[in-house]
Amino acid sequence: MTALTCPEPALISRPVTYPEMEAFLAGLNQPGFITIQPEGQSHQNRNIYSVRLYRGKDQPRYRLLLYAQQHGNEPAGKDALLFLLRNFSENPTLLPADTELWLMPMINPDGAAADTRRNAAGADLNRDHLSLDQPETRALYQLVRRVRPHIAIDCHEFVRDSEDYASMGWLEWPQIMMDTANNPFFPADIYKMGLEWCQTIAQPLDAKGINYTRYYVGGVPPDEEQRFSAPDLDDARNGIGAFGGLSFIIESGVRRSRPDPNADLGLRVQAYLAIFDEFFFNKTLIKKSLKMLEKTGDTRTLPDFVPTNYFWANRDFKISEVKVIETQNNRERSIATANFMTDLVCKNSVTRPAAYLVDAQNAGPFKNLLDRHQIDYQIIKSDTSIEIESARLIRFEDYTDSVYNRYADRVLVSRLPNSEKTFRPGSLLIPADGSQARRVILLLEPNQMYGLYQYPQYRQLIDTSGVLPVHRLLQKQE
Ligand SMILES: [Zn+2]
Repeated sequence: MTALTCPEPALISRPVTYPEMEAFLAGLNQPGFITIQPEGQSHQNRNIYSVRLYRGKDQPRYRLLLYAQQHGNEPAGKDALLFLLRNFSENPTLLPADTELWLMPMINPDGAAADTRRNAAGADLNRDHLSLDQPETRALYQLVRRVRPHIAIDCHEFVRDSEDYASMGWLEWPQIMMDTANNPFFPADIYKMGLEWCQTIAQPLDAKGINYTRYYVGGVPPDEEQRFSAPDLDDARNGIGAFGGLSFIIESGVRRSRPDPNADLGLRVQAYLAIFDEFFFNKTLIKKSLKMLEKTGDTRTLPDFVPTNYFWANRDFKISEVKVIETQNNRERSIATANFMTDLVCKNSVTRPAAYLVDAQNAGPFKNLLDRHQIDYQIIKSDTSIEIESARLIRFEDYTDSVYNRYADRVLVSRLPNSEKTFRPGSLLIPADGSQARRVILLLEPNQMYGLYQYPQYRQLIDTSGVLPVHRLLQKQE
């Protein structure tokens, strides 16, 4: 197995800036091997670059996309990608001949320049993947639709020394973590394969002395809750996973409370490169993944039911061990907790509809949305009476749950009895079939607890009687 060259950690003292990155990219001139192009522009007109590396002659067998810095103040992934690029540009034969590599090192250049999580419009790009409101996320999807990567990896950083942990005298144990796309409407084989990656890479990372575990979030054990990453579609890993490939998120740990959080940036870059190594050179897992994806594709028959309410739980009331590091003596310690939610539970589902319908009066914003996702729809030309199922809003949860934080906008609806509704010219019919079926359903299904209505522009389309703007056209019964 070939290994990527790791930089000397001490030589990395600060992140590469946007102008430095641009200069570095401009200096790479290897036609036929490296192609660099802007996929779009940020709010402040900085380029969002993609880099393609491929040295094979025929169609590539394996398409890998690595992208980073959706959160501007999380630079490590980008720095790792630039080292990767340097590795391959200095030694092209290092890149396996059957691998087409795509890099998008800096998705949020404005946030990077300002050292902020959000973009210049104040949006959290990694919660924008349902609405695709932001030019930065749209640039990413433009590439994803064109390339259809077999494997896509989103690179982030998490804080190891939050106040909560520090108050216990602890540091979070992991230096780097990874999780897979996990929406329950994705094919089971994809989730299984994703988990196999997350588990298999533990061994090589351990051998390199890097603390690695599957990515989890939450508070301090034993009293607070931990859980694996959110199964909803508003983040990149699940949003891109909906295209049918394998999709991952990596989080490297930063110690933000240090005087210079980037003093150990080199260690984070090394940890990243150790994981990337596996995605280039673990031939067994790559081969197995490609074989599985060929079989699964995105046209495979969908299940007859759509999960609408799902969450992490501790199914058998298991006791889990969460490792921490005692900061005073640098010793590892295991904290037993029953609050680690390790099982994805589905609480409710609805039958899969044949299509969705949007009335003419709401067609504008939905056309926009569907166009941004490049989802096909039909425009109804004359008054058409159709039997549909609608959903009525019960309420939004407007409190912020400290554990479920981002989920303050949970929407509770009741399903209304089937009714006959006349759709006026200009109404939209969005078929939930063919290769777009999974994405259509995950985007539009009105019974989803966490979906479009977390965004104000869709929330305001709910009418005064509480009926949601998207209606279900049910499958014909035999
Ligand atoms: Zn992040």
